[in-house]
Amino acid sequence: MSTPTTLGRPLRPRGKLRQEDARRHHRSLLIQQLFRDGPASRADLARAVGLTRVTVSDLVGELVGEGLLEELGAPVGTRVGKPPTLVGLAADSRHIVTVDLSTDGRVAGAVVTLLGSVVERRQRDLDGRRGREAQLLVHELVAELVAATDRPVLGIGVGSPGVVDAVGTVVDAPNLGWHDTPLAKDLAAAFGLPVFVANDANTAVLGEHTFGEALEGGLMLLRVGTGVGAGLVLEGTLLHGHRAAAGELGHVVIDPDGAECGCGRRGCLETVLAEPRLRRRLETEDAATVLAEVGERLGVALAPVVGTLNLHELVLSGPTDLLDGPLREAADRTIRARTMPVSGEELVVRTSTLGDDVVIVGAAVLVLAGELGVS
Ligand SMILES: [Zn+2]
Repeated sequence: MSTPTTLGRPLRPRGKLRQEDARRHHRSLLIQQLFRDGPASRADLARAVGLTRVTVSDLVGELVGEGLLEELGAPVGTRVGKPPTLVGLAADSRHIVTVDLSTDGRVAGAVVTLLGSVVERRQRDLDGRRGREAQLLVHELVAELVAATDRPVLGIGVGSPGVVDAVGTVVDAPNLGWHDTPLAKDLAAAFGLPVFVANDANTAVLGEHTFGEALEGGLMLLRVGTGVGAGLVLEGTLLHGHRAAAGELGHVVIDPDGAECGCGRRGCLETVLAEPRLRRRLETEDAATVLAEVGERLGVALAPVVGTLNLHELVLSGPTDLLDGPLREAADRTIRARTMPVSGEELVVRTSTLGDDVVIVGAAVLVLAGELGVS
């Protein structure tokens, strides 16, 4: 398995890079450039990443040899002189196997290209399986997905509910009956592939950051489903927190006299915002009123976060019939009313453009970042 620190890249370079590290870093720079901006000539690549043309030609040759990059011929319309050959990322040269455990009652998986396109999907019902049984079902699904592709598999990415530590051990996921479950270690041993496991909201925010329509500034994705969680990408880095629990907003108490929560306390954000609770209220109460009230409460809870971090975007991910409308509008309004203009003016509050695939493609980003150094 790769080093667990790849995702939380250090903010400052520590000491001098060893030669092989420099080479790895330069390879990542080139792949990242092609990943973000598409095909380019060697000369353009050298200019874009600030390396010499000799270094770029050498590395491109190596990457073409490995099949990760491909020669695409000359751009159309080039007439004068010898046209430059473009190189691009070979999106289909390797596939990524991803698993989404964020939806209650089922295990979903996919085979994804290096550019985040889903080429195969599989799904299994949990049927009440928990603990070791649930873990074995994940193994079965992964085996099926690995068999479904004829390309080399770059790695396995998993978005799991609960708190997940830096080496991919699920510290605590009550719905699956997992406690200190070494999901990444066991999958790596079973399949002999690099494995990356992260909390589902953290996985989702990576999906949005890389394959959604994310802007450049800080991004928080709030995932609403059976529970409520958040993931944060700040200054281009996924935020983990001291004990890998950054973004655990669902169990912040917003009303000490509120309804009882699964965690044993009262009035957690989850008790008003989680999908099952919200749907139950909508059976008997006026939808627009309820959604606006919940949106306002969410705004009250998030205003200090937005003010503290000066976020650029707040993305609501989950059932859009609940989230996109009065709820989002009220949250947006409330956050602006409770923060300085500098915090609120350019804040974008929106729903995810990736819909239900946000964890599936986010899990691919875990692998891309860990194995190729791109996101
Ligand atoms: Zn709670």
